[in-house]
Amino acid sequence: MEVSKAHVAIVGAGFGGLEAARQLAHASVRITMIDRHNYHLFQPLLYQVATAGLGPTDIARPVRAILRRQRNLEFRMTEVTGIELAARKLATSTGEISYDYLILAVGGETSFFGLQSVAAHAFGLKDLDDAVRVRNHVLEMFELAVHEKNPEVRRALLTFVVVGGGPTGVECAGALSELIRLVLIRDYHGLNIKDVRVLLLEASDKLLPVFPETLRESAAKALWEKHIEVRFGAMVTEFDGKQLVLKSGETIPAHTMIWAAGVRAVRWLDSLGLPQDRQGRIKIKPTIQTEAHPEVYVIGDAASLPDGDGQALPMVAPVAVQQARTAAANIQHALRDEPLESFDYHDRGSLATIGRNAAVARFGRFGFHGFFAWLLWLGVHITFLIGFRNRLMVLINWAWDYLLYDRAVRLITPNGAKH
Ligand SMILES: Cc1cc2nc3c(=O)[nH]c(=O)nc-3n(C[C@H](O)[C@H](O)[C@H](O)COP(=O)(O)OP(=O)(O)OC[C@H]3O[C@@H](n4cnc5c(N)ncnc54)[C@H](O)[C@@H]3O)c2cc1C
Repeated sequence: MEVSKAHVAIVGAGFGGLEAARQLAHASVRITMIDRHNYHLFQPLLYQVATAGLGPTDIARPVRAILRRQRNLEFRMTEVTGIELAARKLATSTGEISYDYLILAVGGETSFFGLQSVAAHAFGLKDLDDAVRVRNHVLEMFELAVHEKNPEVRRALLTFVVVGGGPTGVECAGALSELIRLVLIRDYHGLNIKDVRVLLLEASDKLLPVFPETLRESAAKALWEKHIEVRFGAMVTEFDGKQLVLKSGETIPAHTMIWAAGVRAVRWLDSLGLPQDRQGRIKIKPTIQTEAHPEVYVIGDAASLPDGDGQALPMVAPVAVQQARTAAANIQHALRDEPLESFDYHDRGSLATIGRNAAVARFGRFGFHGFFAWLLWLGVHITFLIGFRNRLMVLINWAWDYLLYDRAVRLITPNGAKH
């Protein structure tokens, strides 16, 4: 009689979920991978979709195409709405799914820190819809501005504010400024470039906090050279879609705000009753399991595990991928009644680009900036993109844009507007 195989449910086909599935490809388990989307999204290049450099299909790939050769895996496109932890069952929008082991790899979402007016009017940058909405909106602002007679309104239409001086904010501000100064200004002859402002607002006194000081300074300098007004100690308290208010009381007329200041674990995890940190991430043990339910593993942006200094590990792709490997290994150890492994994070460094020929690269306490850092950034992103077709398309797009100062995806497409 054939013994039935343990059933592993993996929720989330992001960086962590995909790696966990691959690590279990030859294990004697049955896997159900679940995601609310039918695609895996390469989030590090979302800002390029938002700034018309790449199209959505360049940075996303169907999960079924990625995992089609994995015989022990079945994919279900459905939304998980809750978990009955004691009964080991997932509630989904299309019915229940039982499991023996669960890997929760559900990622994060934008956090507006309870600022309701900002949440209502600013754009987040976490999914393809967000990125396409930003692209549409930026292009629409130019369509409106070119016919606007009132100079104050025109300037507000052409003021683009990015909030948050982490890698996403820096990359987004740099790409936006280049889109405007290198490309759009040639499309809209009637506009005066002096009416355009790109601001990067950071509440603390530094950009790119994980980088050493010299690299932070070179990044700030590169942003200034790309005509981005970087403001430190600038904390946004309100935004009504036409004007933002800072904590100091200063107001800035602007019709566009891109919020790159905060992320948290996806909100529906709050209903599980498992211990969470301040960002809503579920606290896990070094074995990647939850304390109360050893059959439940949580990885990536949804998980909170302190590093050596007691700080939760960052919400970045390498943490998700490495935790996926430990979770997959420990499920196999548990099946064989072997002792479990503890997670040990290997930080291989960080990269951030500010635009054409400009990037910063950090390895441990060392780093460099400029053209070679930018080449490294290009190489790493091409390498980690999933799928040969996507790599090729992105490479062709980048070469085209670099040589011809173009952005091919300058399309305003039907898509739900933010306001
Ligand atoms: C704009 C941006 C830029 C970034 N740049 C970098 C970078 O340069 N370098 C870097 O290392 N990291 C970067 N990150 C962070 C990195 O993308 C995340 O750390 C990484 O994606 C986390 O992987 P994950 O597997 O935990 O979650 P994700 O990759 O977010 O995957 C989560 C998956 O779960 C699915 N899901 C969520 N809820 C449900 C549900 N209820 N039912 C079904 N499915 C669900 C989602 O659809 C998604 O596919 C960036 C993130 C963003 C947003």
